[in-house]
Amino acid sequence: MKLPDPSSLSRAAAAIAWNRRDFLRNAVGLGASGALLGFSPLRAAALPLKHKAVVVTFGGGARDEETFAPEGQENIPNLLRTLFPQSTLYTQVVNHGILGHYVATASLATGVYETFDNFAAVAPRDPTVFEYFRKDLHRPADDTWVVAPSNGFNRIGESDNRRYGEGMGAGVILPKNLLKAAMPTRGLGNYDHLLRDNYEDPFYTPALAGNEVELQQLDNILKLSVDDFTQHALTLSSPDELSVYIARQLMRRLAPSLLWITLHDIDIAHSGTYSLYVDGIRRSDRLCAEIWKTIQAEPEYAGRTTMFILPDFGRDSDMDAGGNGFQHHRTGDALSRTTWMMVLGPGVRPGVVIDRPVDSLDLVPTLGSLLRFSTPLAQGKPLTEVL
Ligand SMILES: [Zn+2]
Repeated sequence: MKLPDPSSLSRAAAAIAWNRRDFLRNAVGLGASGALLGFSPLRAAALPLKHKAVVVTFGGGARDEETFAPEGQENIPNLLRTLFPQSTLYTQVVNHGILGHYVATASLATGVYETFDNFAAVAPRDPTVFEYFRKDLHRPADDTWVVAPSNGFNRIGESDNRRYGEGMGAGVILPKNLLKAAMPTRGLGNYDHLLRDNYEDPFYTPALAGNEVELQQLDNILKLSVDDFTQHALTLSSPDELSVYIARQLMRRLAPSLLWITLHDIDIAHSGTYSLYVDGIRRSDRLCAEIWKTIQAEPEYAGRTTMFILPDFGRDSDMDAGGNGFQHHRTGDALSRTTWMMVLGPGVRPGVVIDRPVDSLDLVPTLGSLLRFSTPLAQGKPLTEVL
């Protein structure tokens, strides 16, 4: 994919961001510019000790038209009404990398634009945030976890950079694999809707590799019996609900200090069915609020956890002749590269909108500054407004 000229991309992204800010002001009743622009960096020393971070990414970007634009706001009532008033919102997060979900999410996690084949189950080349976190702070293996949607993502927890050493990454749970491992012998009805995967390419069909190792994760890590897990899973309506269920179990059992959850339901947009795409956005909106609610309810997290919510990138514009609108993210146009990020937690200024362009790669150094570990090979810069 040809990458666009950064300056033209920045101009287009700036226009998108200004529109977004106006939408937000109208939507949440923020009138005074002071509420939007007035901030100064907080001192990190004021943050409580034992700070934790939860990162929620959407694999399957969502466009303005279906989110922050006036016609989209009905799809994100929780983000807009419940979370935004508590958040600092970056309106121009620009992804200059490859617009495929696994490679883009890996790039978010390394702070470097990774260039591997999106459809290959390979480890990131550059150290992940999980390795930086564990190595620098001498954290144990169970203090950082990834909950991710599908195969390929099983390699996201640890790079193949040997300077950071084998075994220094995050534990990775793929809930669909857990369910696949648990269900074949159970005969408890139809659960295909919970195993949906690979919306991107009908010719690429990774096998869901559920096996005994996955089942041991249920028992050993989550302290969850196969029966309890399967019975609860069958009450859920989508893979993302299953992911959030697993994430909650992790938070209760292990309370990891750095937890990364990647949602994926929105990417059903590739089917071309607009209503399913919007359903995915609405579900993601609700699940983000549920995750934040869990953070507030769990003693290990309440009052000392920063949550980051961001799509990995956008989707194609209706105006780009090279694409097919919301269905895909293939053109590399400004809309497909520009997204947003919400940050909530102690010390984060509420109801603040940051319009300056930031880069998707800024996430890793920001996490490093927040939790006090170094990220030497990551590119990007710490986002000072939330530190
Ligand atoms: Zn996609």
